[in-house]
Amino acid sequence: MNNDIEKILFTEEQINHRIDELAEEMTAKYADKNPVVVSVMTGAMMFTSEMLKRLNFKLTVDYVDISSYADGTVSGKISLVKDLSTDIKGRHVLIMEDIVDTGHTLKYLKDLLEDRGAASIKIVSLLDKPERREADVTGDYIGYTVPNEFLVGFGLDYSGHYRNLPYVGVLKRSVYEK
Ligand code: 5GP
Ligand code: MG
Repeated sequence: MNNDIEKILFTEEQINHRIDELAEEMTAKYADKNPVVVSVMTGAMMFTSEMLKRLNFKLTVDYVDISSYADGTVSGKISLVKDLSTDIKGRHVLIMEDIVDTGHTLKYLKDLLEDRGAASIKIVSLLDKPERREADVTGDYIGYTVPNEFLVGFGLDYSGHYRNLPYVGVLKRSVYEK
């Protein structure tokens, strides 16, 4: 698995340190707000769990599953595969994502949660690829801004694999161009 990685962009140690910083900022804003943390499966799983360990205040955890990438590296159609179990009306929502790419996924989710009457909605994303943005969304808490390369690890997959890598790396082109 590690042999398929061209280069490592962020090590586990770096990411954990960055999550410490983001958690501190979020704690300052949300400690008395009882927010709903909405994790976007499956990519945000690792980022969400690392973040949750550092948010030492009352909150609710829920998740959605939105499919946007069929089985490759090109963005596709968006559909809600798993909805929330929590009523978010009047609640402060923190959406946890792995990466904001074109932005279509988050635009879709943000609009949906807005319609349901969330008190506020902020986007927390480990990675942000602004070069690729098409939809009008911006992250509120971003771990790293990244170049337009196909990344895997720390939750991000290619064709269902590499999510369990503890770092974020660039996938070798030879892996998906064969
Ligand atoms: P969107 O294009 O809608 O902003 O991003 C949708 C989803 O595409 C992201 O949540 C993420 O799961 C996936 N995605 C976007 N860029 C990458 C990437 O570089 N690597 C991987 N593995 N997934 C990506
Ligand atoms: Mg995702």
